[in-house]
Amino acid sequence: MPDVLLAEFVSAIPMPALMVDQTERIIAANTDAKTLLGQNIVDRHFATILRQPQVIDAMEQSLRNKGPAKTRHLSNDGAQDTTFEVEFRYMTGVGAVQGGAVLATFQDITHVEQASQMRRDFVANVSHELRTPLTALMGFIETLRGPAREDAAARERFLQIMTDEANRMNRLVGDLLSLNRVESEERVRPKEKLELTGLLESTLNTLAPLAKDAKVELTLAVPEGPVSLTGDSDQLRQVFTNLIENGIKYGGSGGSVEVRVQSSERDTAMRGPAVRVQIIDKGPGIDSVHLPRLTERFYRADSHRSRQLGGTGLGLAIVKHIINRHRGRLRVESDLGKGTTFTVILPL
Ligand code: ADP
Repeated sequence: MPDVLLAEFVSAIPMPALMVDQTERIIAANTDAKTLLGQNIVDRHFATILRQPQVIDAMEQSLRNKGPAKTRHLSNDGAQDTTFEVEFRYMTGVGAVQGGAVLATFQDITHVEQASQMRRDFVANVSHELRTPLTALMGFIETLRGPAREDAAARERFLQIMTDEANRMNRLVGDLLSLNRVESEERVRPKEKLELTGLLESTLNTLAPLAKDAKVELTLAVPEGPVSLTGDSDQLRQVFTNLIENGIKYGGSGGSVEVRVQSSERDTAMRGPAVRVQIIDKGPGIDSVHLPRLTERFYRADSHRSRQLGGTGLGLAIVKHIINRHRGRLRVESDLGKGTTFTVILPL
């Protein structure tokens, strides 16, 4: 193949690509390859350009065996790491000397790597979260079989702890299933017509006993008249339950949790008609370093307190996915020592 055609061929490949012939020089490279490896790479020896040992080895192997090879190339542009899968394919009858040349293509697989890392982290987190209560349960079963067998008071106390631990596992499995369901439905727009004020009133009624036990005054301020929107009432109830429960659990020391509803014809965030539901507590607040990661699965601002209160670390992750499904937004503002406000913005 004439050189011009070869260069044209390489430039049409939709990812970084270059060719090296039996003189061990780069005989063609496309724009993406030049962006990745440097502008003046044509005619240079491949080892001075590719540099990473595993990539040089694979190129040598492909040239020598006149066959395929595969490896990884890692690059860093100063801001982030990118992982490429590099495929080497041998083409006979091209290149300056007889014998052929190797075509190397660099496919960006960073997102694949990230997805599998996230999956591994998730499995590790779930296993850890399940194992903690399971270990406690197994320990108490042993104790009940042995030392505590004849001690009625100890037995009662241990059974109570076992019930709490079993409940914790049950909540975790429940939240995992919810998260799974919400994620799989995220792209399906909800269709139900619902009225928000009534939904919030009944959510607050359900949570009234929890607030009473925590000595928290739970109040609702709504605009006059109905607030109608299209959504999924079960899911929205879950959003407000999680946020109000958090307000009571983590912000209850402030003595109050207020739910405030405001609708507007032209919401600044949504650039159109929307309703804002704010859940305001006067508790200890959340340090700003935690705010960007709060909706990640298993992320806790105060792990000790979350575990003590039986939290799964999944509540806000579920909230975020449900709000995404409704094409809404979630905002968090928090002042240390003064309290936290979660704002749910839903399009009308
Ligand atoms: P959890 O099951 O631990 O409650 P969430 O996802 O619901 O998990 O919340 C994540 C973390 O955010 C909590 O562990 C807690 O540290 C923090 N948090 C949530 N709401 C509040 C709040 N109103 N005030 C202070 N911290 C909060």
